[in-house]
Amino acid sequence: MPADTVPGGIVPERTWPVSRETESVDEPSDSRDDRYRQEIAESVPRGDDDTPLAAQLADDARRRIALVGRSLPRPSYPRIMTLANQKGGVGKTTSTVNLAAALSQGGLTVLVVDADPQGNASTALGVDHHGDVPGTYDVLVDGTPIADVVAQCPDLPGVTCVPATVDLSGAEIELVPEVAREYRLRKSLKAYLGGLDHPPDFVLVDCPPSLGLLTLNALVAADEVMVPIQCEYYALEGLAQLLRTVDLVKANLNPPLTVTTVLLTMYDGRTRLASDVAQQVRDLFGDRVLKAAIPRSVRLSEAPSHLQTVMTYDPTSSGALSYLEAAREICEKGGAEHG
Ligand code: ADP
Ligand code: MG
Repeated sequence: MPADTVPGGIVPERTWPVSRETESVDEPSDSRDDRYRQEIAESVPRGDDDTPLAAQLADDARRRIALVGRSLPRPSYPRIMTLANQKGGVGKTTSTVNLAAALSQGGLTVLVVDADPQGNASTALGVDHHGDVPGTYDVLVDGTPIADVVAQCPDLPGVTCVPATVDLSGAEIELVPEVAREYRLRKSLKAYLGGLDHPPDFVLVDCPPSLGLLTLNALVAADEVMVPIQCEYYALEGLAQLLRTVDLVKANLNPPLTVTTVLLTMYDGRTRLASDVAQQVRDLFGDRVLKAAIPRSVRLSEAPSHLQTVMTYDPTSSGALSYLEAAREICEKGGAEHG
């Protein structure tokens, strides 16, 4: 492979415009973005799109032209979105952190609340979450203000995070006898957002793989639910239970709560199974399913071990492009009723 190509890509290896804050100041960003688009356009293979690889590369390059350096429409109020699915391994955490990074690359600000005791979102965002670090546990159990525990994500200037430590696993039990135990996160979040001159544009809450008190707190705190669905056999199993839980929360605890967004993850377009599952999900949820489906991608699964999202680890990968597309759709579609 020539030295100026990157594995799986056709874009010359150079500093990619990762975020507005990393841009150099001596060239206007518009003209630089135009120049990048021009270079990418020139690198699109011509006339040989007939091999699958060339077609894929050309398609990725065209998508990049449409996405690089574009800013996203800012919502008029902080959109609080909980990513929930009681199945493990469906892409909740991967979607939370990469959407946060994608939104911030589009010029928006995002608060990620890690509500999973495994703390995988905190890891991927490069935020410290060893035992002594205060985080979601302290907010839920001790009523510590979010302002006292929120951390800046090192690689993502627009993203902050309330980290999760292993202590959080105890919260499911410790909260049981507490008064208004389902409202704890909501109360803290409202107080935090209300006290900020510039609240974040999005709050994304990453849930554990269960429908216990942590997920309940996340659902009561949010206006919107995003359901990531893995394009595999059994994907729809358990979904009815999740939707029932959302309906119960809506009826009893948080009337505005709505499933606004469904995201297909680990989509492998070459398999019949993936397209069958995608079709079933689209039949069930209609236009709540984002057009952008996240492909199965090694780069996405590698990124957390480098304490990064794929948006900085490999911004030209198809996984990164898909999360950029998903972020754009989420912004353009707008949110639910604002509670
Ligand atoms: P959840 O939070 O729902 O349990 P994760 O986001 O942690 O799911 O994903 C489960 C595993 O699958 C992780 O190892 C993650 O790196 C990997 N993964 C997630 N999305 C993708 C994808 N699109 N392609 C490849 N691997 C993925
Ligand atoms: Mg997770």
